[in-house]
Amino acid sequence: MSAPVRRLIDALASCGVTIGAVPPPEGAAAGDLQRAQTFLGHGAVDPFAGDGTLVTIEADTALMAAEAVAEWLAASPDADLAGTVILNPDCDTALLDAALEARGLPALGQSADSPWRGALQVLPLAIAANWAPFNAKVLLDLLMLPRPPIGRGAARKLARALAREPGSGRVAWAQAWTDIEADLVQRFADSPTAADDVAAKLVQWKEWTTSGLHDRTTGIPAADARRIAARVSGWAADTDAGTGDPLLMSVSAAGLALAQAIEALGEDLLPALLIERMIEQVLADGAKNPQHIATAGGLRSIAHPAALWKSVPRLVWWEFKGPGERVPVMPWSRAEREALETVGCVLDPPDVAAKRIGWGYVNAVRQTHERLILVRPSLAGGEETTSHPLSHQLAPLSGPNGAARWRAEQLLSGTHHELAGRVLPRAEISLTKRPVAQPVWALPPAASERIAGRSESATSFEHLIDCQMRWILLDVLRLSRGRFAEIPDASQLLGNLAHEIANQVLQPGPVDDAAIIASKVNAVFDELLGAIASPLQQPELAGELAAARIRIPHSLVRLAELLRDKGLDVVGTELDRAATFPDGLEVQGRLDLLVRDAQQRLGVIDIKWTRSARRRVAELTEGRAFQLATYSAIADPETGVAADGAYYLLNQRQLVGLNGSLLADDDVEGQSLAETWAKLIRTWASWRDLALGGRMVATGIATNEDHRPDPLGHAPGEAPCQYCELTSLCRIYEGTTGS
Ligand code: SF4
Repeated sequence: MSAPVRRLIDALASCGVTIGAVPPPEGAAAGDLQRAQTFLGHGAVDPFAGDGTLVTIEADTALMAAEAVAEWLAASPDADLAGTVILNPDCDTALLDAALEARGLPALGQSADSPWRGALQVLPLAIAANWAPFNAKVLLDLLMLPRPPIGRGAARKLARALAREPGSGRVAWAQAWTDIEADLVQRFADSPTAADDVAAKLVQWKEWTTSGLHDRTTGIPAADARRIAARVSGWAADTDAGTGDPLLMSVSAAGLALAQAIEALGEDLLPALLIERMIEQVLADGAKNPQHIATAGGLRSIAHPAALWKSVPRLVWWEFKGPGERVPVMPWSRAEREALETVGCVLDPPDVAAKRIGWGYVNAVRQTHERLILVRPSLAGGEETTSHPLSHQLAPLSGPNGAARWRAEQLLSGTHHELAGRVLPRAEISLTKRPVAQPVWALPPAASERIAGRSESATSFEHLIDCQMRWILLDVLRLSRGRFAEIPDASQLLGNLAHEIANQVLQPGPVDDAAIIASKVNAVFDELLGAIASPLQQPELAGELAAARIRIPHSLVRLAELLRDKGLDVVGTELDRAATFPDGLEVQGRLDLLVRDAQQRLGVIDIKWTRSARRRVAELTEGRAFQLATYSAIADPETGVAADGAYYLLNQRQLVGLNGSLLADDDVEGQSLAETWAKLIRTWASWRDLALGGRMVATGIATNEDHRPDPLGHAPGEAPCQYCELTSLCRIYEGTTGS
């Protein structure tokens, strides 16, 4: 008994409360359970006979162990649930509850404290968003939390904008705030102080997204850090609104504790390492999962073997694995302990604590009188488990024949099994064959109807030519993977940055000379880098950024020189174009760069950031430059005259076009863009008509050729599935049917 409890009992006795010995457990155990109790009480060794009164379930994984326990409980009469206690020292029954609920049994609803619960991340993310260079990923994580610190709709809009422009933001970011403001105006429309309410909410939300940036080593001013911590605490308390959500209350307390710790520290500046450690400390206790709750039923659950104060018929000791409860480390020196004792604070020495823990184990065995099931998985949470101390204690009773041990994996075979006095019936289920890939599918009329009136783009044409199924699912039905916001990779960021810089420095009219272009590029580089490509400023991308600082200016200067040499003026950059063609075909697109020569002939330049020129050159030589052909066809919707077209490859500083083109610097032989476009229209019409007729063909499936329509201007590419994300939907890797 611990010293404080001893003192409490002494105090009660001194007040006249009668204190007696704990009565012996009710109900007499028999068989192996009685053998264990006798051995633990008197040391008499009588080996287990395997009669099912005391069983150790051994399983390779905790998942299999949970299945076995749930099967045993499901095979028990309902009335027995009330006399069954689950002992769960790890305080987390998520896995076991899933198995119980699958069999219609009540969930125990215990969850362990964890510092990784969603809302608890608001505090570290809110602080991390203040370190320079700006880390768009941190802000995106904050906005995409299940419970973000600003309105969910607003957080989604900002997350999308951030994914498009990962930085301080430009057009997309500004547009997101404009949309958010419009939403707020609508929301507060009935308020007499609508304008003030909208303004206040905007200020409040902007605080989370536009904070100052501080050097990690020098640190954040203490006042700023305190303000952020208090803001997090206030947000959690407001969101909780008195409902007592344990998670939000933990967040609120952690924010407050951090603010107080900063105050107590008395430093003016807090370096990143210091404040991150402080956050770890205030979040160390974590919080329980508020979504994981117990359901009503007879089962009861305890978290400590000493918590069994009364005899129970059946005890299931879940996660019966080592090392068991640890003896607390004594942090006090002898002199300190003596000083504490002089003022009445008597601490248990380690040997007393060890005895108390051991007594708890024995208590659980003694308080059970019908069945004791000890559940030991070999793996738990990916870690190999060790034996529980009580298991070592009972080792002299375990005979070499494995009596009283039961393998959970035997549930996977055989017709029935016996476990701890119950028969677990097993019934064979008929296996359903997995669906296999098929080259042709029937389209419901609702899907075909969505084709009418849609507008195609260069990307949707590429999908269509490679695979009609991909086009229908991605472009017509707009199926998406649901990842609505993701920071682009380095290559995409470099491409975006180069495009935006080109957009800024190539203004309509005659092209500036090289020196002016170079100085314009340098003038906007860092501003645009911070606004739309800030992940490139992170240390891990330092190499890519250093290379881009040289390559992007050089390549744009080279582009300007090429345009000047060819006597081309800029008509515009990032131009939206839309055109209508016969047979109801509507096409839209955004042109990177449109130029004009002295004879007023137009040329489209598609700017690419790519490692190798090979793919773009091959497209031109093979007559498969679908993007260029599309842009060329829609460049001048008023006259309908097709423009010339070329790729400008930034990395290679090459202007690649077809032989005889007014743009090309590096010419290649190939089919004209007009011919590519004519075939593209024929291809579109054939596939479109097939879809309108209610059929969809997956051209990556081996036997698709018999189902393709005729005529097809462009056949699918050789590897249409190479970059397709629909492989699990069309089941291309599952084998095929010929139909
Ligand atoms: S994986 Fe291949 S066959 Fe399947 S939809 Fe994509 S491109 Fe078509």
